[in-house]
Amino acid sequence: MKIDNCIFCKIANGEIPAKTLHEDELFRVILDLNPATKGHALILPKDHASNLFDLPEKTAAAVLVLAKRLAADMSEKLGCDGLNLVQNNGEAAGQTVSHFHLHMIPRYVNDGQTLSWTPGKASQEELEEVRKTLTE
Ligand code: 5GP
Ligand code: ZN
Repeated sequence: MKIDNCIFCKIANGEIPAKTLHEDELFRVILDLNPATKGHALILPKDHASNLFDLPEKTAAAVLVLAKRLAADMSEKLGCDGLNLVQNNGEAAGQTVSHFHLHMIPRYVNDGQTLSWTPGKASQEELEEVRKTLTE
């Protein structure tokens, strides 16, 4: 289902043009307008889901299979040296467009990009508390 005021619904369903790398029944894959590196692409489901929390399991499973296929193309045809998959969910996590999308960011040695976080510290007790919270 499409949402009227969603730009990625419009792009995914061909109402707004974008540089399309792949299209099938479930997805359109486009080049990001503001690429982090050469070949930065976005996998967009055609049906609206705001983020991973909303995404049907069938689509969630299919998205990684598609990413794997595109990764092979990026490696072969762009000659990238690595690849980051990035997927932001919610404003707190840096999501700016509220329609699920998986970033595929080809990486090149010395491309000057940094996708990183600051490693924290946690005691065994703290880790155990989190483990319990998530599993009990
Ligand atoms: P987010 O921060 O939500 O994970 O990423 C949104 C991404 O969508 C950004 O990398 C941004 O450059 C890209 N983007 C936003 N609007 C458009 C658009 O109209 N066309 C294309 N191709 N990319 C867009
Ligand atoms: Zn949408």
